[in-house]
Formats: sequence, C-alpha cells, structure tokens
Amino acid sequence: MGRFRLEAPLAIEVGAVVLLFAAALGTLWYTSTAVVEREQRRALAHGRLKDSNDLLEQRGKDALAAVREFPDYVEPVDWSALETRLTAEAVRVRALDSSIEGGYYVPSRHDRPFIPALPSDPRGSNDTSVDEDMSLSARNLYDHVDTQVDAAFRKGTELSVVEDVPPYTIAIRAAPVRVGGRVVAATWSMTRLVDPIFLDQSARGYQIFAGLALAGIALSLLLTARLARTVRRQASERERLRTELRRGERLAALGKLLAGVAHEVRNPLAGIRGITQLWRRGVDLGDEGFDHLIDEVDRLEEIVSRLLQFTRADAQDLAPGDLNAVVAEAARLTEARAAELGVRVEVDLAPDLPVVEMAPPALVQVFRNLTSNALQVMPRGGVIALTTRRDSVGGGVLASVADRGPGLSKDVLAHLFEPFFTTKAEGTGLGLAIAREIALAHRGELKAENRPDGGAVFTLTIPAYKAAPKAGRLP
Ligand code: ADP
Repeated sequence: MGRFRLEAPLAIEVGAVVLLFAAALGTLWYTSTAVVEREQRRALAHGRLKDSNDLLEQRGKDALAAVREFPDYVEPVDWSALETRLTAEAVRVRALDSSIEGGYYVPSRHDRPFIPALPSDPRGSNDTSVDEDMSLSARNLYDHVDTQVDAAFRKGTELSVVEDVPPYTIAIRAAPVRVGGRVVAATWSMTRLVDPIFLDQSARGYQIFAGLALAGIALSLLLTARLARTVRRQASERERLRTELRRGERLAALGKLLAGVAHEVRNPLAGIRGITQLWRRGVDLGDEGFDHLIDEVDRLEEIVSRLLQFTRADAQDLAPGDLNAVVAEAARLTEARAAELGVRVEVDLAPDLPVVEMAPPALVQVFRNLTSNALQVMPRGGVIALTTRRDSVGGGVLASVADRGPGLSKDVLAHLFEPFFTTKAEGTGLGLAIAREIALAHRGELKAENRPDGGAVFTLTIPAYKAAPKAGRLP
C-alpha cells in the first residue's frame, strides 16, 4: 500500500489555491486597514467641525449670528457705513478660526451674500480652502448659504442649520439686521469641513481592492471545493486499483494452489491407475494391492479435507474471544496422541490476555496443525510447550508452539509456508500454508524460527480487539 501522494498537477493546484487565498487575505487586510484609518480621520474632522461650531456659538453669537438692531442708522440708511461695520464684524469672526467664514447680505445692493475679504488677502475671497476642481461644489455651497440668509432676511428671525453639501458638512447661522424696525440686511456665519471621503481619491481604489479580495477568496473557495473533489476521486480510484491488485494477487495465488493440487492429486491417481491396470491384466497383487489402493484413496481424501480447511480459513465470522481458551482446547486435543509418543504437553497461559477478534474453530485448527508437526519431529518423546503472552510491541496477543525436534534448516525455513511444500514422504505440505492463511484472516501473522537451545518454535500474533468495532466477515 503506497503512501498517499499528491500528483504534480494537484500539487500545483494546491499551491495556486494557497497563493490566491493568501493574496486575497493580504489585499483585504490592507484595504480594511486603510479604510479604518480613513474613518479615524473622518471622525477627527467631524470633531473639528463641532469644535469650530462651538467656538462660533460662544464667541461669534454677538457678531454675525444674532439679530441686531442698529438704531443709530436711521432712514435713509447710510449703506456704506453699515457695510463697513458688517465687513469688520465678518473679518473678526473669520479670524476666530480658519474653518469659520462669515459675511452679510443686503438684497437692495447685492444679489448674493457678500463674502468679505480676508485681512491678509485684501483682493481675494476667503474661499481659500477649496481646490480648483471643487469650485463647482463651492458654488453649490454658497447657494445653500444664499438660501439660509435669504430665509433669515424674509422671516426676520435667526436660523441655524447643519447640512451635508458634498463634499462638505456645514453649519450655517443666519440673522437679520434691523434698522429702525425694518429688516434691511442679514448676516451669516458658517463652519464647514470637507469630508475626507471626498478628499480621499483612493476610496475607489479601496473598493476595487476589496472587490478583488472578495473575488479572490470566492475563487479560492471554489478551487478548494474542486480540489477536495479531485482528491476524493483520486482516493477512491486508488482504492479501486488496490482492490483490483488484491484480487489479482489472490487469483495468482489460487492459480498456484490449483497447480499444486493438480500435481498432488496426480500421484495417488497414477498409483490407483497402475494397480487397476495390473488387475486388468490378471496380475494378482493380493492384499497388498488393496492396501496400496486404500492408501492412495486416503491420501486423496487427506488432500481434499486439507483443501477444505483453506476455504474455511477464508470465510470465518470473527467475534471477540479469549485466545487462552483456544490454546487450552488444542492442548487437550493433542494429549492422547502425545501420550502415545511419550511427549509431554506443557501449557503456560498468561492471565488477563487482551481480547482478540477470532474464529475459534479455525484457530484450533492452526494449533492442531502445529502440534501435529511438533509430534512428528519428536517420535521418541520430548516436550511440546504451548504458551500465550501479551505482545509488548504491538499490544496484541502472541501464542507459540515450541518443540524439541531437529529444528528448521535454512531450506525448509525458506519454503515452509508454501502450499504443498513438504519434506515428509506422506506429507501434503498444506498444514502450515493453511495455518498461515488462517492467521492472515485474523489480521495476524504466523512466524517460524529455531529455538536457541534446539527445536523449532511457531508463533502466532493476533492484534487486540479494538473498542466497539463491529464483528465482520473476513476479506
Ligand atoms: P506437512 O506436515 O504435510 O509436510 P506442513 O505445511 O505442515 O506440511 O509442513 C511443511 C514442512 O515444514 C514439513 O514437511 C517440515 O519439513 C517442516 N516443518 C513443519 N513443522 C516443523 C517442525 N516443528 N520442526 C521441523 N520442521 C517442521
């Protein structure tokens, strides 16, 4: 089973998604920082508007923002004296703060509110804070001043208005001027600020950036979803290939097994055929001939029943159980034959073994095959030791069958578990192959080695039963 690896195009895709996502987040971060900064500037500007308005409230009220009666200018009005006085007041108010402007309106002499010249700039108007490209907005602004001043003039009352006149926010105060009870003029004062939103040429840039960032995030999410789909598809494709490979391997193994079966079956069949041919020719083989025939049939029977064990090894229901019970049962079944041969069966079972998933009849078969081999290598007596232990490395269970026979030669060790490998005249060579097949079906393994002090030991390892798994069919 290969380790999970991304194929090259997929790796490029992952890289692209990560880069895109990072770029989008970076842009979003930059834009939001810039916008927050601008909002802070805006709040600061609004604070200034409020301050200058308060200043006007406190100190400008007595000048342009209040109703005044000029009893000393009686009719006919001395317009030039009145205008000189109002201009002086406007200049005084203007001097309070750079954001404050002021002027007066005498409809009989001027058709627009008069904007007095600054003391420092006798020629120009005081509209110095407005840029060239804002002159249109500035005209719009003075239209508002015009409206308010005209209203104050007509109504003969004070007016105070705060309004948004893009790009400005303005606070206008207007008050009538009376001469001998008649309203002849009106004065006005105004504070204004240019909203940084309009000054900030980058606002559009921010919008574009934010849009790009959001589009980037959306695109990277889309790509991620696509990527997830690709990865899932590749994983299932890999799983399918693995299953096919396993099937192929099994078929190959089956082919090999069948070739072995054919070979093994052919020998006894040839024997049977030989005897029957002799009989046909009238050769009297006596009882020996019958015995030989029965032997060959027994051999065929043995091969067939061993082969059946293979099928059983492949389709067992596994259930959690105690391996000690299985080993004890196998030992019990060995006792009689062992006693005949003068072999002692020693059983050493570890207490508190972890539970394992198993098919007890199949495992009994494994131990019977192992003990039967062990008995065969100790025809003149000895000891068979059946032991169980907790596997300190893998956390599973170990069960071993050890004998005091001749041990395993290098050649035998190399082929021991192959079907039909045998060194015995009457052997089928299937016992260990079946035992190993059953071990694999238990997700375990079967190993053979020589004991340091003589003899062979076969060890079965089975993983411990995991909490709450479901009992399943073997693969
Ligand atoms: P069989 O017993 O029919 O030969 P097995 O698959 O059980 O088939 O064993 C294969 C071979 O492994 C045996 O023929 C023998 O050479 C060797 N073998 C098995 N068990 C032992 C053992 N305990 N000691 C020495 N050799 C063994």
